[in-house]
This record gives sequence, C-alpha cells and structure tokens, in this order.
Amino acid sequence: MTIAANLEAIRRRVEAAARRAGRDPHSVALMAVSKTHPAADILEAVAAGQFLFGENRVQEFAAKHAAVSAAGAKVHLIGHLQSNKAAKAAELFDAVDSVDSLKLAERLQEAGARLGRTLDILLEVNVGGEAAKSGLAPDAPELLEILRAQPRFANVQIKGLMTVPPVSEDPEDARPYFRRLRELREELRGQCGLELPELSMGMSHDFEVAVEEGSTCVRVGTAIFGARPYSTSQEPQ
Ligand SMILES: *Cc1c(COP(=O)(O)O)cnc(C)c1O
Repeated sequence: MTIAANLEAIRRRVEAAARRAGRDPHSVALMAVSKTHPAADILEAVAAGQFLFGENRVQEFAAKHAAVSAAGAKVHLIGHLQSNKAAKAAELFDAVDSVDSLKLAERLQEAGARLGRTLDILLEVNVGGEAAKSGLAPDAPELLEILRAQPRFANVQIKGLMTVPPVSEDPEDARPYFRRLRELREELRGQCGLELPELSMGMSHDFEVAVEEGSTCVRVGTAIFGARPYSTSQEPQ
C-alpha cells in the first residue's frame, strides 16, 4: 500500500466512525504522525492532500523542518517537551499538543512573545495514571492552574486536551479513557470558562473508538507510514 492509499483508507474509516456516532465527519481532523520517517514521506503525504502532521522530537523535526514548511504543511509537537527546549519548539512547530506543566506553558508564552506569534497548545492528560507516561493526572491541581493562567498568555492559546491511553490489544479497552478525557473537558470547562474545543485522542489501532467518543483529532502514524524502524514514543528529549 502507498501512503496515498493508506491516507484514503484512514479518511474513509474516520468518516464512517463519525457518521456512526452521529457526528459531522468534518469535525474530526486527521493528523499524520511522521516521527522516525523521512521528510520525503511527509512530502508524499502532502502530495496526497494531507497537510497536518505530528512529530514527537524537537531535534528530529529540526532536520525536516525546511522541506516540510516549504510544502505548506502544519506540524504539531506531540511528544514530551522539556521547558529548556520550549524556545526551539516555538520556532519550529505550529502547535504543541503535549503541554504538561505550568512552567512549560509559561516558557512557550515567553517564546511566542519574543517571536511575535501565537501558539496553540493542548494539555496532555495521563488518563491511565501510568507512571512511565508523561501528562498531568486528571485530578492534578496544576491542570486548572494552567487553564486559569490563560488570561496572562497573550501568545499561547489553550485549545483543549490530549491523551495517550494505556497500550492494549483490544481498541475497546481504550474507550473508557477516551470517555474520561471528554468528561474531564466538560468539568474543566465549567471550572475555567474556556471553551476547550479540541480533544486529541486515538491512534492507528483505536482511532475509530476515539472518534465515537468525541475525538476532534486522531493521530495516526503506523497505519499511514508503516511500521517505525525504532520506537521513540516515551523517550525524553
Ligand atoms: C507515535 C504516536 C502516535 C501514532 O501512533 P501509531 O500507533 O503509529 O498510530 C500518536 N500519538 C503520539 C503521542 C505518538 O507518540
């Protein structure tokens, strides 16, 4: 299968899942996760009409950035970011979907102000409470602290929440975690008054379940680009 054919197949499955759930298929964005794959693969996807990508390491994307931005693609950072790399990330990425501390949000605000740009961010929530995963606990006071800091952030726009549920063979196992993220969004909305329209959830093996549970952005890597030569998902950077 080519990247173009894979994209087409995933788009159809996203649409079908949205219809099953009584949702507008246009309310779900498809993010192609291109980590570990070369810029040439990203350009192939762009040629097939895909313009939203996810990368998980600042350093790795720096090498692809020139080619990819020239092609008009938008790229979000979806991997853990240390606050000392916030400035570099703010330069390279269109959005950071994996913000997990107030300090990082503040650093991105400073970097955005310096660059004269506004950065969209999502707050990453560790709904499964896994020790090895990054993200804020659903009941972490810091979650609300970041949301309540929004009025101080002229250059950072908090758009919603992101999660990576525990790994499991059966996609149905992810459903309670996706549902929990949606419910958490409702709770936080009531507490902070922000709209939080975005819920980034669902990967290659469980994106249909995520769409049924309200995902507005599914992050699909393997099912588009094939197996990765090595794993980087939880490596620090
Ligand atoms: C790698 C990665 C994905 C894509 O995973 P696949 O199983 O290859 O679709 C999605 N989200 C995050 C945060 C990732 O690190």
